[in-house]
Amino acid sequence: MKAEIVAIGTELLLGEIDDTNATYISRELTTIGMDVYLRHTVDDDLGRIVQVLGAAMRRSDVVVICGGLGPTPDDLTREAIAQVTNRALQSVVGAEDQLRQFFAQRHRTVTENNLKQCQVPRGGRLLDNPVGTAPGILVEHEGCTLVAVPGPPPEMREMMSNHVMPFLRSKLEERGDVPLFTRSLRLADIGESEAANELADILDQATDPAVALYASPGEVRIRIATKAASEAEANKKLGQIEQIIRQRLVEHVYSVDEETMEVAIGQALRAAGATLAVAESCTGGLIASRITDVPGSSRYFLNGYVTYNNESKQRLLGVPAAILEQHGAVSKECAQTMAEGARKDSGAGYAVAVTGIAGPDGGTPEKPVGRAYIAVADERGTICEQFDWPGTRTQFKQRVSQMALNLVRKRVLGLA
Ligand code: AMP
Ligand code: MG
Repeated sequence: MKAEIVAIGTELLLGEIDDTNATYISRELTTIGMDVYLRHTVDDDLGRIVQVLGAAMRRSDVVVICGGLGPTPDDLTREAIAQVTNRALQSVVGAEDQLRQFFAQRHRTVTENNLKQCQVPRGGRLLDNPVGTAPGILVEHEGCTLVAVPGPPPEMREMMSNHVMPFLRSKLEERGDVPLFTRSLRLADIGESEAANELADILDQATDPAVALYASPGEVRIRIATKAASEAEANKKLGQIEQIIRQRLVEHVYSVDEETMEVAIGQALRAAGATLAVAESCTGGLIASRITDVPGSSRYFLNGYVTYNNESKQRLLGVPAAILEQHGAVSKECAQTMAEGARKDSGAGYAVAVTGIAGPDGGTPEKPVGRAYIAVADERGTICEQFDWPGTRTQFKQRVSQMALNLVRKRVLGLA
């Protein structure tokens, strides 16, 4: 099936925001074996949107539109679909009730312009949006499936995985196309070249399932893919190669597909019936924030300490003044005593601590910018690892948080 993606929004053309939605949608469509041939970016102009949609619909089986579904006058996607399909817009009653409820829950009143979001071109249907106000639209017209999803990335992703992807999968099946099934193994604490080395023969020889390495921000992934008539058949083939890869890379494979590191450690902690506390210096609360992104994290996450200066490391975590004087705040000794202090104060089974130099200033020849010490304390004692990753502050915080969570994961699973 041929697909095109149309991103709508003047801000995209002004370079004010990155078109991350198109990247995401491309990847999703490709993953199930669709061919994405063209991508377009159009400003908030009805005439130009209609023109681009018309041409895309003539060429392709599926056109995915993102953006322009909101309540303001510059949101024109709905009108453009109505025009290009020559169908009148009609209100969907149930959707209006749902929208009123969405606003009532937030103690806001729904305005007239919001209600236009409940309209759909005749014969089309609305796609539910549990995380925002703008429902999506799906219309089948003259052999082409037109789908419109909202612009805000979390809403777009939710709608793609809940509605659009299942719909397109069944469409592929109906046509008798053998769909492509993929799985992506996520790796921690290993670089692309090292992973490529470990898997050299597999990467070279495996054709079905195909195995490929790719670097995504902050980590390396292994994508395995196969075409199969059924999900069960695909799972069998993918499962076999996954086992072989896991045996090679052991502790590096931390999760599959969209499961994040914080979800993976949540599962490990829950399975072990264990609890966790976090003591953060250079990550400023990011680790605690990531842990609490996971629903149900209150079952295992007890405490976070953001101890950014020496005095707070002493007062809240009991780091001895002598350690700070002799070794400095960025040291193995400090990280270890931070972890031990957090464990003691919180009563958690595991405590992880990080301390480092994010830069751009503050580095020395012995302790350069990008240096971090990550310690995990538990009943068996305290382990500490040193890492060096110069980069921007944001990259540094992200990477240190990832490594800290990974060290907890390995410790809980008995891999460290
Ligand atoms: P809209 O649905 O056009 O009202 O878009 C709402 C918001 O979603 C915009 O202000 C952007 O912040 C975001 N957004 C829209 N389109 C994209 C896109 N293609 N990629 C990433 N973010 C987007
Ligand atoms: Mg817009």
